[in-house]
Formats: sequence, C-alpha cells, structure tokens
Amino acid sequence: MRLLIALGGNAIKQAHEEGNTAEQFTNCRVTTRLIAEIVKKMGPDDRLAITHGNGPQAGNLLVQQEMGKEKIPAQTMDVVGAMTQGQIGYMLQQTLMNYLVDMGTTVPVCAVVNQVLVNKDDPEFFGDMASKPVGNFFTEEEAKQLKRDHPEYIVKKVKPNGEKTWRRTVPSPDPISNVEAEAIKRMVDAGIIVIASGGGGIPVMCDARGRYAGVEAVIDKDLAGERFAEVINADEFLVLTDVEVVKLDYGKPEEKPIFKMTLAEAKKYSDQGHFLAGSMGPKVRACIRFLEWGGKRAVITSLDKAVAALAGETGTHIVRNEVE
Ligand code: ADP
Ligand code: MG
Repeated sequence: MRLLIALGGNAIKQAHEEGNTAEQFTNCRVTTRLIAEIVKKMGPDDRLAITHGNGPQAGNLLVQQEMGKEKIPAQTMDVVGAMTQGQIGYMLQQTLMNYLVDMGTTVPVCAVVNQVLVNKDDPEFFGDMASKPVGNFFTEEEAKQLKRDHPEYIVKKVKPNGEKTWRRTVPSPDPISNVEAEAIKRMVDAGIIVIASGGGGIPVMCDARGRYAGVEAVIDKDLAGERFAEVINADEFLVLTDVEVVKLDYGKPEEKPIFKMTLAEAKKYSDQGHFLAGSMGPKVRACIRFLEWGGKRAVITSLDKAVAALAGETGTHIVRNEVE
C-alpha cells in the first residue's frame, strides 16, 4: 500500500496561537506521533509520503517583510514558498524522526524543496482574477496606499464587513505537474518517507527551452498534493484537516455528514456547491482527480481521527464505485 497524507493548517499552527517556534513544534509533535503510528503498521513494501499547507507561516513571513521593508527588501512569493517549505519540512522531519528513533525504526525521513509547474495561460494570471488572499488585512485607506506603493499588486475586499476587510490576493493557478517528480519517486521507491510539495509547492513556469522560473502565486496544497500522489503511485490519499467528516448542506440547519460517497456522487455534490471554494472545495476536487487518475480510495478527516479513518471507522471515504 502506498499512502500520501496531506496535512492541513492546524497540523502546524492552531488558529488561536501566535505561532512561536515552541507552539509550532508542539503541534508538529502531535501530528507526527500519529504519523509514527501509521508507520509502525507499515509492511516492508508499504510506502508513505507527506505534504502540508503553509498558509499561516507564509502569511506571517509576509507581515514580517512588510514591517521590515525599510531595512531588508521583501522576497518574492516563490521564495517565501521555498522558505516555508524549509521551515515546516524541518519541523516535521525532525519530530517524525524522533518518534521513529524511539520506536527503534530506521526508516529515513527527508523534506524536499519542491517546485510545481503551472501554466502561464491559467485564468488566475489575468485581469483581477487572482483569488488567493495572502498576508495582512487592511482598511480601505491602507489598501489604497498598498496599491500606490505596489501598482502590480491586486488588492481586494475579501470580507463583507468589519474594519480591516482588504487583502492582497495572488493567483492560485492549477498545478500541472511536480518538477522534482523523478527524484521524489526514486526516494519513495527506495523506502524514504518524503515530505514534499509543501504549501502547494513553489510555483514555477517553464519556457520553450525547458528552463524554469518562479512566479508570484500560491498553489492550493490539496490539488498539488494530488499531483504528488500520482508521482509516488499512491493507492490512498488521506486529507487531514479540522473536520472529522465532510458535510452536505454545510452550515445549514439540514446539514448532514457524508461517511461514504462514490466518485459520481462527489462530482454531483461538488457541482451543487456543497463544498466551499478555497477550503473543502479543492479537497474534494483533489480527491476526484485522484480517483479519476487511478487511485483506489481518498479519505478526508480530522488530524486526530487519522488512524481510525484509515481503519475505516470514521471520516469521509470517496471510492470509485459502490461495491468498493
Ligand atoms: P486546511 O487548513 O486543512 O486546508 P481549510 O480551512 O482549508 O483547512 O478546510 C477545512 C474547512 O472547510 C472546514 O473547517 C470547514 O470550515 C470548511 N468547509 C467548507 N465546506 C465544507 C463542507 N461541505 N463540509 C465540511 N467542512 C466544510
Ligand atoms: Mg485549505
């Protein structure tokens, strides 16, 4: 069995926390202790790979850059992506290794700085289509100033009311492929637990001569995670977030949990708008893609239910056909 786990924001930083180093390590330990339990159950031919989000960490870096810009120039979004892959990859690999050492297991763990290819014709790059809010919230006045300072920025009102409702938004293009695919595949085949495609991967474009360059964008980590799952030939795709099951009629009085859905049902519910854009929407879309590509099972659940969900006891299971 080959498994790819996608970790949500709460695996590294809880919403109410300030995000200091100790807090983030504590969260990573909770996460990797669960992953170590999964590793413990793995046989010699089983393989595991991990991806993770970077929203809170990238957001904090952008705030630091904004505040320190008189002294140190701000880095571009692709570089910020690379910085957070290093930061989070380090914390996850160290805490996971420590649990494996305690268990007497010698499986190697390695975080990879990883680029993901996007298409220069993606609609997100045109006009004011950019949909992913990043960094600080601003008042309308501050938003206008930001736009004067950076005419190239797209600044949008992202909340209907409140004092600070404006944010910079960047393109969130669809991931086409994982650039380090061959290296990652060889590592996973060799039995290494690879942490890659962090924060959706570093977004890059490729020119006609096959040369890569970074772009100012943020790729959805679940959609990029699905490309990573293809690279390692995963059978299962486990998406760990902050809800135990996906809901129909989410947030409405008639809300209902979904424990199992077929690919056809997942598509139908997606089209009906049950899964919100920017959160559950891309997770379900990633699961649909995974099954259409050839994956056997996709599961969405909360971090603390990871082991129970893999055993079939809870979570939302998405399968190709009813009989599976
Ligand atoms: P992550 O950091 O794990 O990617 P997100 O916030 O992006 O987390 O996605 C999880 C959130 O999706 C849930 O906390 C919930 O608010 C939201 N959500 C949207 N639609 C649904 C739905 N149909 N069922 C359950 N949760 C949903
Ligand atoms: Mg998310």
